[in-house]
Amino acid sequence: MEKVILVRYGEISLKGLNRSFFMNKLYKNMKAALAKYSDVKIERIQGRYLIICNEYEINQIIESLSKVFGIISISTAYRIDNDLDVIKNTALQLINNNREKIKSFKVESKRGNKDFPIQSPEISREVGAYILKNTENLKVDVHNPDTKIYIEIRKETYIYNEIIYGLGGLPVGSSGKVALLISGGIDSPVAGYMISKRGLELIAIHFHSFPFTSDRSKEKVIELTRIITQYAGPIKLFIVPFTKIQTEIGEKCNERQTTLIMRRFMMKIAEKIAQNEKAQALVTGESIGQVASQTLEGLVVTNAAVDMPVFRPLIGMDKQEIMNIAQDIKTYETSILPYEDCCTLFVPKHPETRPKIEKILRSENLLDSNSLIEDAIKSTEIISLP
Ligand code: ATP
Ligand code: MG
Repeated sequence: MEKVILVRYGEISLKGLNRSFFMNKLYKNMKAALAKYSDVKIERIQGRYLIICNEYEINQIIESLSKVFGIISISTAYRIDNDLDVIKNTALQLINNNREKIKSFKVESKRGNKDFPIQSPEISREVGAYILKNTENLKVDVHNPDTKIYIEIRKETYIYNEIIYGLGGLPVGSSGKVALLISGGIDSPVAGYMISKRGLELIAIHFHSFPFTSDRSKEKVIELTRIITQYAGPIKLFIVPFTKIQTEIGEKCNERQTTLIMRRFMMKIAEKIAQNEKAQALVTGESIGQVASQTLEGLVVTNAAVDMPVFRPLIGMDKQEIMNIAQDIKTYETSILPYEDCCTLFVPKHPETRPKIEKILRSENLLDSNSLIEDAIKSTEIISLP
């Protein structure tokens, strides 16, 4: 009797002709996520992937798989012969493994292999009767059982009693590539997670204002990006020096406009880097009304800086909802470390909340935008993560 891991995928089973493309992406992503384990084999069976590995690594492997987008659920199963006596005994063993916690159970059988002589309802009945005969104080409850025993009869039989939910989504790399503007805050890492859940590969761009912002704040962004790679796969992180641009804006532009002009510069630089990297859209962690620069008018003015589409997966979310996701994906603790971000420098006392694009453009004309942007891109540092 062998313990294996069953992996179920969801949406990708719906993709018609593209199916094998999605399946191959998922296979590659699982393989990459499991590369650090010693003897892992991934096999394909009808409608599932099967992971064969060392039993002592099963829990860690499930933990790694639970971060791979495209997986709906995972079970640890016993793989056994298609023999009713063996099935009965294995089912009983599963019940006995958790005997103290269980007062009722249900058996659910699926017979994919029609060579097996007994039909599903009868398999369930026979196995249920065998469990009742060999235990005490246990009953069958078909509506609300404490545990379910699942039996799948295929070329071989798989039997399990636990289903662990995965993240769903689509396999990363199946939908193209986008550029995430990542700060050290709570929001942008969540935005990156959410967009990569839809199968998008990421590059990340961070604007750093050394020496106004410290090396520790840069390390924090590297760490946040590294956490996101656990879900999104490898990420190329671009660290763009932003001090000169910020200083120029601070010296030459109306104080009330500084944040917005700064954000427009970020967008323009990000667009250029994205084009070079063949990424097709920008992604930010903006959410309507969250701060002064994220009023509708502010977002319109920020957006007008670029031609590329800008995705804002958090646009309609409350801060608390965003924080909950940050906690689930384990970026929160790093995000709240108190190192300054370049946006917290030069914050105007009375920022413009209803900016007019004409006025912003007039201010920007006071700057030598092209050469500022070119210089920043030229001095960009690139870090490949993990
Ligand atoms: P976050 O928590 O992601 O920092 P925020 O609510 O603090 O977001 P802002 O500081 O106004 O909002 O930034 C809005 C968005 O602009 C961020 O979500 C991020 O996508 C981008 N951004 C802000 N600062 C930087 C930076 N230093 N480098 C790269 N992108 C940034
Ligand atoms: Mg911020």
